[in-house]
Amino acid sequence: MDESWDVVVVGGGSAGLSAALMLVRARRRVVVLDGAAPRNRFAPHMHAVLGHDGLPPTELLAKGRAEIESYGGVVVRADVRGARRTDEGFVVDTSAGRVVGRRVLVATGLRDELPDIPGLAEQWGRGVVSCPYCDGYEVRDRRIGVLAAGPGSAARAQLIRQWSSSVVLLTHGTDAADVDERAGLEARGIQVVDAPVVRVLTADGRLVGAELADGTVVDLDVVFAMPRPVPNDEVLRQLGAQRTESAHGAFVAVDEQGLTAVPGMWAAGNVVAPRANVPVAMGAGAGAGGAINYDLVLEDVRVALAATA
Ligand SMILES: Cc1cc2nc3c(=O)[nH]c(=O)nc-3n(C[C@H](O)[C@H](O)[C@H](O)COP(=O)(O)OP(=O)(O)OC[C@H]3O[C@@H](n4cnc5c(N)ncnc54)[C@H](O)[C@@H]3O)c2cc1C
Repeated sequence: MDESWDVVVVGGGSAGLSAALMLVRARRRVVVLDGAAPRNRFAPHMHAVLGHDGLPPTELLAKGRAEIESYGGVVVRADVRGARRTDEGFVVDTSAGRVVGRRVLVATGLRDELPDIPGLAEQWGRGVVSCPYCDGYEVRDRRIGVLAAGPGSAARAQLIRQWSSSVVLLTHGTDAADVDERAGLEARGIQVVDAPVVRVLTADGRLVGAELADGTVVDLDVVFAMPRPVPNDEVLRQLGAQRTESAHGAFVAVDEQGLTAVPGMWAAGNVVAPRANVPVAMGAGAGAGGAINYDLVLEDVRVALAATA
C-alpha cells in the first residue's frame, strides 16, 4: 500500500478487475482498492455472461482477484475517501492508508435507487429485478409485474412480454403509457393497472403479489422495477471530472477507451455507463486497461528521451 504504483484502480468489480488483469499482464504495478460491494451482490446467480452463465457473481470476482494476484497485482479491501492530482500523478486516500499512482482508473459502479414501496427492497435481486436479459429467462411464462417509472415504461413492458404472455404494467400513479402505447399493450395482452402500489407481498420469503392503494391484490411471481441509477462518482468529480446529462441521468463522459477529461484519469463500467452488464463492463475495463498501459508507454518514451538529451 505504501508504495508508488503505475496504476491505482478504484473499484474491484467486473470493470476494475478486468482493467487490472490487462495491466498486470503488461507487467505494470497495480493496486486495486475495493469496497467489496458490487452492484449485483443481491443476486444469487449471474446470467448472460459467456462461460460463466449461472455462476454466483461473487465467485467471478473472487476468481478475478486471484488471477490478478497471481501476476503480482495487489487487491486491497479499502474504501477510497478522497483523491488529488500531483505533478507525478495521483494521491489516493483510503480507509487502509494512502497510495500514490501514475494513473487512476475509477470503476466504482452505481447505486440502484428503488422506489420507496414497503417490501420492494427486501426482494431486490430475487423477486424484484430490473434486467430482463439477466433474469427474464428464469421467470419465463410466469406472472410478471412491470413497475412503471414514467415514460419508457410501456416500451419496457413490451420488451418483457418477450419472456411471458402474463405481463401486467403497474403504472403506480405515473404517466406510464399514452393512448397509442395503451393500444399496443392491449394488442399484445398486457394488462395495465392504474393505481399506486402500496406494498409488495411475500409468502415464505417469495414474492407473491402487489397490493394496490384500493386494497386490490395483483398476484405476481416477479416484479421488474426501473430503479434510478446513481453513479458512485465522488472520486471522479473530486479529481475534476464533471457530469453531463444523458438519457439515463447525469454521468461523467469518457472517450471510447474510458479516458475522462482529466489527464491521467480513466473510468469504466457502470460508474460512467449505467446500461453496462457484466460482459460490457468487463470489455470497457479491458479496453481502458490497454489504453492506460499504452499511455504509460508513451510517458516512458518521453522520460527515456529526456534522460538522453
Ligand atoms: C440485482 C442485479 C442483478 C444483476 N444481474 C446481472 C446478471 O445476471 N448479468 C449481468 O451481466 N449483469 C447483471 N447485473 C449488472 C451488474 O451488476 C453490473 O453490470 C456490474 O456489476 C457492473 O460492474 P462494475 O465493475 O461497473 O461495478 P460493480 O460491480 O458495482 O463494482 C464496483 C466496485 O467498486 C467498489 N467501490 C465503490 N465505491 C468505492 C470507493 N469509494 N472505494 C473503493 N471501492 C469502491 C464497490 O464496492 C464495488 O466492489 C445485475 C445488477 C443487479 C443490480
